[in-house]
Amino acid sequence: MTPEVIFAIIILILAVNFIIDKVLDYLNAKHFNDKIPVPLSDVYNEEEYYKSQQYKKENFKFSSIISTVSFLLTIAFFFFDGFAFVDKIANQISDNPIVITLVFFGIIMLGSDFITTPLSYYQTFVIEEKYGFNKSTKKLFFIDKLKGWLLMIILGGGILALVVWFYQQTGTDFWIYTWVFIAVFSIFMTLFYSTLIVPLFNKQTLLEEGELKNELEKFAKKVGFTLDKIFVIDGSKRSTKANAYFTGFGKKKRIVLYDTLINDLDTDEIVAVLAHEVGHYKKNHVIFNMIASILLTGVTLYILSYFIDSKLLANALSVPEASFHIGLIAFGVLYSPISDITGLVMNYISRKFEYQADNYAKNQYNAQALISSLKKLSKNSLSNLTPHKAYVVMNYSHPTLLQRVQNLVL
Ligand SMILES: [Zn+2]
Repeated sequence: MTPEVIFAIIILILAVNFIIDKVLDYLNAKHFNDKIPVPLSDVYNEEEYYKSQQYKKENFKFSSIISTVSFLLTIAFFFFDGFAFVDKIANQISDNPIVITLVFFGIIMLGSDFITTPLSYYQTFVIEEKYGFNKSTKKLFFIDKLKGWLLMIILGGGILALVVWFYQQTGTDFWIYTWVFIAVFSIFMTLFYSTLIVPLFNKQTLLEEGELKNELEKFAKKVGFTLDKIFVIDGSKRSTKANAYFTGFGKKKRIVLYDTLINDLDTDEIVAVLAHEVGHYKKNHVIFNMIASILLTGVTLYILSYFIDSKLLANALSVPEASFHIGLIAFGVLYSPISDITGLVMNYISRKFEYQADNYAKNQYNAQALISSLKKLSKNSLSNLTPHKAYVVMNYSHPTLLQRVQNLVL
C-alpha cells in the first residue's frame, strides 16, 4: 500500500459517510408531511402540527447547509495538507511530544470552534427562539462556552497529555495503560458527574415536600428502590424542553427531574417517568452500558496500537515522520466505518432497553400515565412523529413515539 492509496481510502470513507447521511436525511424529510398515525392523533391540534412541520423543515434546511459546508471544508483540509501545516506549527513551538500533541489538537479544536460557535448561536437565538424554546441569554451562552473550554482544556488536555506520556514510556503497549485509565476515569465520572460537573452549569435542588415527592417515594418504596434524594435541575434557564434522567449507581445513584418536566406533567405522569427510569436500573442497563463502553474502548485502543506509529499513515497526510497525533487523526477516519457499525448495534440495544424500561413502568405502575407523559413531552418539543424507518434504525437511541405507544397499549 502506498500513501496515495491510504489518502484515497480516507477521502472515500468521508464521502460515503456524507452520502449515506444525506440519503437518510432526504428520506426522513420526505415524510415530514405524512398524516399523523391514528394512535398519536391527539398529540397535536392542527395549528401545532403545522408548527411542528415548520420546525422540522427549518432544522432540516439548516443542518443540510451545515453538513454540506463542513464536508467540503474537511475534504479541502485533507487535499491542501491542512494537518501537515498544523503539525509544522506545533513542531515549531516545542520539541516536547506532549506539548506538540496538545498544541496540535488545540489549534484543530480552536479552528473548528471558530466555525461551529456562530452556527450554534444561530440555532439557539434564531431557530429555537422563533419556536419559543430558547430561554438562554446571550451572556449565558458565552459563559457556557467559556466553561466548556475550561473543562476541555483541564480534562481533555490532561487526559491527552497522560496518554501521550504512556505512549512515550511504553510504546505500542500504551493501549493497556490508556484503557485501564479510561475505564477507571469513566467509572469515577459516572459516580461523581452530578456533584462535580453538573453544578458548573446548573443548580440542583432537592425536590420540595409535597404531593409529588410523596407519590414518587411511595412508588420507589413499593418496588424496593432506595431513593434517598430526588433532585430538580433548573433546565428552564436554557430551554423549555423537558427531560429526566438517572445517573450513578450504588449509593451514588440519583434521579434528576428538569423543572420544566415538573411544570409540564401531572403527578401520575411524573411517577410513570420515574418508573421508566427505575426500570433501567432494575434491568441493569446502567451497568451493561458501562461494561459495553469499556470493552469497546479496549478493542478500539488495541487496534489503534497497530496503527499509531505507522509512517504510512503519516505520509498519507503529507507528514514525513509518524507521530501520535497524526496517527490518531488518520486512524480516526479509517476506523469510522467500524465505529459506525458498533454505534448501530448500540442504538439497537438501546431501543430494546427503552422497551424494557417502558414495560417495567407498565407492569409496576401504569401504562396510560406513561403514554400521556410521552405524548406531552413530544408535543412540547415539537417532535417528529413520522420519521423514516431507515433513519430510525441508523440514528435513534429510543423507539419512535408510535412504537412506544403501540408497545404500551399491547
Ligand atoms: Zn429510557
